[in-house]
Amino acid sequence: MTLQVGIIGTGMIGQDHIRRLTQVLSGVRVVAVTDINLERAQAAAPQGATVYETPQELIRAAEVQAVVICSWGPAHEEQLLDCIAVGKPVFCEKPLVTSAEAALRVMEAETAFGLRLVQVGFMRRFDADYRRLKAVIDGGTLGAPLMYKSVHRNASVPEGLYTSDMPLNDTLVHDADISRWLLRDEIAGVEVRVPRRSSRGGELRDPVMVLLHMTSGAIVDVEISVNIAYGYDIRGEVSCETGIAALPNRPATVITDQFGIRQAIPEDWRERFIEAYDQEFREWIVAAGQGTATGPSTWDGYAATLVADAALRAVASQHLETVEMVSKPDLYNQ
Ligand code: NAP
Repeated sequence: MTLQVGIIGTGMIGQDHIRRLTQVLSGVRVVAVTDINLERAQAAAPQGATVYETPQELIRAAEVQAVVICSWGPAHEEQLLDCIAVGKPVFCEKPLVTSAEAALRVMEAETAFGLRLVQVGFMRRFDADYRRLKAVIDGGTLGAPLMYKSVHRNASVPEGLYTSDMPLNDTLVHDADISRWLLRDEIAGVEVRVPRRSSRGGELRDPVMVLLHMTSGAIVDVEISVNIAYGYDIRGEVSCETGIAALPNRPATVITDQFGIRQAIPEDWRERFIEAYDQEFREWIVAAGQGTATGPSTWDGYAATLVADAALRAVASQHLETVEMVSKPDLYNQ
């Protein structure tokens, strides 16, 4: 069976996912696209795909069996609710939505439907190195995880994302999600420290250090630098009771010449996580073909949204800000 997919939002990541779904993966076909900028949608549409004028028309089109949302965050809620209303599985790029209230509305609609339909784009969970790291922690041979260090460095920020809150709104959600997943824990509180500001970023609050206080008492420290010039650098190290488990550096060809011994660094997230994005969609295609969703859920998107909100409060207060979650619906315990 071939899953017929419609894409909403044909910007940077929308185009990358169209490439992935048309040129890399099997069992899937992009049959429809839309974007607020119709010319961009026309240009990105694969051969034979219909360009719809609005997300609503695309979601309701009979030929579209499942939807991929790659529009910007504030548009996600309405598009998710429309997908749930017609019972179509939907992959939504992070952030799920941009407020806790919006996340609760999506959760309410999905739980009323009674079946998971939403998968959120937290692709790190599909990365082979993160999966091996999690297998070691889950195996229990090192004892309980006590601390986790997460390092998230971007070479630069796309112009449209250049706001002072960007590292906490857009970047931290990945570290928050991977911490919850690796440690099998929820985040109960958030502290933020803002060190000396990089002169490369103007008003951008960069770098930032975030402490995530987990409900078990474990603490995660996250270093975020989004304008560090040299490349995209993702690291992680879990300190457990009797040992340390660390994310390996990405293997790359080692060049030795008159300038020294060098290894290439990934340019950006597309290069570092290319296999993770592919695997994320491979698993999504299987679940969506069965009319449902697996992987990161609306609950996970809700948690990440709460953490981003708490982090923004913590910048202002310079105190520990607590994260209060509603009780978890059974749908997300399965
Ligand atoms: P982008 O290049 O700005 O693309 C977004 C596209 O959606 C633009 O063409 C935009 O048009 C369009 N759009 C905005 N509102 C819309 C609406 N209501 N209906 C239809 N189209 C709409 O942004 P991007 O970098 O691709 O990011 C898209 C989403 O992916 C964001 O939520 C972002 O956080 C997420 N993302 C995730 C990852 C990851 O690692 N998982 C990486 C990058 C991005 P205009 O430009 O005219 O507004």
